[in-house]
Amino acid sequence: MKKKKILKHIIIAVSVLSAIMAGMFAVMPDKLVYCEQLCKYKLGSFQLKEAREDELDLKTADAESMKISGELMLVNRAHPLPTDYVPALDEYKNSGVIMSAFSVDSYAELSKDISDHTGEKLYVMSSYRDASEQQKIFEAEGSSTAMPALCSEHETGLAQDLYFQSYSGSAINKCSAGRYLTSHAAEHGFILRYPPMSEEVTGVGYEPWHFRYVGAPHAEIITENGLTLEEYIDGLEYGKFYVYGEYIISRQNGNTLTIPDGYRISVSADNCGGHIITAKR
Ligand SMILES: [Zn+2]
Repeated sequence: MKKKKILKHIIIAVSVLSAIMAGMFAVMPDKLVYCEQLCKYKLGSFQLKEAREDELDLKTADAESMKISGELMLVNRAHPLPTDYVPALDEYKNSGVIMSAFSVDSYAELSKDISDHTGEKLYVMSSYRDASEQQKIFEAEGSSTAMPALCSEHETGLAQDLYFQSYSGSAINKCSAGRYLTSHAAEHGFILRYPPMSEEVTGVGYEPWHFRYVGAPHAEIITENGLTLEEYIDGLEYGKFYVYGEYIISRQNGNTLTIPDGYRISVSADNCGGHIITAKR
């Protein structure tokens, strides 16, 4: 009789322990991917494979005659926006949220991906701000937390401060949807703009809620290598052609651009006086 009772207790204890372990492992995969991602951010460099120029059918094009986008503009205190800068803006799905016309479709995909996989709805706390709005925030919050007018990438509409219903700000990654966002944003062209351990480079502390659109394949390269946008743009040497999958990437100075023929070309200003060419086969 006594033996039976002990056995019953052992079975209950094992069942409870198994249930706890199963619960732990159920939440671990997304935590692991997310932690792995965050650990990649360190002050470092990266190397992209260079393309052989003799294998590219190169031709020249006048930048002024081309449609120039802005998703790779570097905007910070050292690289303020031009005073006459006018962003291309769009409204996200009649929501009243104004964001960059270059990122609105990709943002819709990111939002759908998150709700399909986690059941959580992604919300925008703050997206586009004009210079006077930015200046007001700067004056109210001070230079340690806010950028002065023309130095915030919110003025491009390419940056979004995101949140979930119960998790926002520095707590955003306490929910699995937040960790999903951090781990999958790059697949939709977005980067964690102010990663941990990068304040020395970006001038801004870790902001797990602030995501910035840079497009493909740049978001993937930046995220895979644990880079900041500063490190990535700085690492692209002027005049060189890099290969990444089906893409050729080249950062160039001046208004006469050299582009590979037979590719789908998009050109973004870098806000450092040059252009970044993204060519897709
Ligand atoms: Zn922000």
